[in-house]
Amino acid sequence: IINDSLGHQTGDELLIEVATRLKASVRAEDTVGRLGGDEFVVLLENIADDVSVLPVVEAIKKQFGRSFLLEGREIAVTASIGIAFGDASRDQADSLLRNADLAMYRAKAAGKGRHVIFDSSMQVDTLARLELENDLRAAIDGGQLRVHYQPIVPLKSERVTEVEALVRWQHPTQGMISPLDFIPLAEETGLIIPLGLWVLKEACRQAAIWHAQFPIDPPVVISVNLSPRQFQMPDLAEEVERTLQEAGLPARYLKLEITEGTIMLDVEATISTLSRLKAIGIKLAVDDFGTGYSSLAYLKRLPLDVLKIDRSFIKGIAENAEDKAIVQAILLLAKSLNLEVTAEGIENAEQAAMLNSWQCERGQGYYFARPMEADKATALLGR
Ligand code: C2E
Ligand code: CA
Ligand code: CA
Repeated sequence: IINDSLGHQTGDELLIEVATRLKASVRAEDTVGRLGGDEFVVLLENIADDVSVLPVVEAIKKQFGRSFLLEGREIAVTASIGIAFGDASRDQADSLLRNADLAMYRAKAAGKGRHVIFDSSMQVDTLARLELENDLRAAIDGGQLRVHYQPIVPLKSERVTEVEALVRWQHPTQGMISPLDFIPLAEETGLIIPLGLWVLKEACRQAAIWHAQFPIDPPVVISVNLSPRQFQMPDLAEEVERTLQEAGLPARYLKLEITEGTIMLDVEATISTLSRLKAIGIKLAVDDFGTGYSSLAYLKRLPLDVLKIDRSFIKGIAENAEDKAIVQAILLLAKSLNLEVTAEGIENAEQAAMLNSWQCERGQGYYFARPMEADKATALLGR
């Protein structure tokens, strides 16, 4: 089973192209069909072990290595592949499909463009997952979610001028669950839409309180993460505008963070959504910059304000020549595109000093502060 979110790109033309490439990856006697949505099924006859299936997997990955050209637009499509072996005769076809589906979701969770072979331990996981999904649904309505705030500071002054809102889930029996464990689930199930709106509302409400409390100049900016699915909401700009109005927060004090992956889902649609947000007066940042595949040519067409360098590059800048070179190159690129830079994951004074000496504007990381509850952040802002 092949699946990766094609977003609102699931037009006929793209689906046909996907099917064509799948067909080109298999033998003449194999079957390619669409399961629905962005899921396809590939039935390989007389292939019953890991070793013989791998060349097919490689062939499929190769087909998806080239981006798709549709009406002059370049679209990157990845394939998450779940594999199950078995007898596809009538009585077993259902469980074969179900197992392949489970493996596919595993592949997806591991990152795009991967393949996973089913094994029976995954069935247990499904139950746990279902339970987690129900719990998350209850958490959104039941007030178990919290927003923590992590300071972002100008490297020159280290005074807090910005905070990033990071969601936390206080589970009634499992304790604090990391967003890394429930955001992907929320994204897959669509729960990210109500969850994300809740975070946005809460963060704007808190930011408005801080503004009233500390009429500092420049006032604190609040940064909120948007997942791919949230970003594709047709009425995103209206929702954001309404939220700002309800909170009484001027748009220029809100920054939205989207990842490179989100941008590249559909560059033309991204430009139009970002432009609408920009028109409201919101600041826009690319999150985890350097980890995705954003094309530099597109970058200059997007109305962006900030690049956030992913913490995986910051980690090694003091010891590793490559990391240092990458970070310096990103800083140069940002300068030439007129973008500001925030370095993520700064964990020590040496990293902060190096980045400052390279004219990196802002930093975020445990060295300055960990994400904290609102009242702790209030105390920091009031200093
Ligand atoms: P992110 O957007 O890259 O957020 C930064 C993450 O890095 C946070 O993890 C933060 O605690 C962590 N971090 C900050 N400084 C350091 C450091 O110096 N060292 C290390 N090792 N880590 C540091 P957190 O809070 O666990 O969030 C993880 C991810 O979950 C976020 O990564 C973001 O992608 C997602 N996320 C969190 N809240 C939301 C939300 O409200 N909406 C959406 N869509 N995603 C969210
Ligand atoms: Ca972020
Ligand atoms: Ca990040």
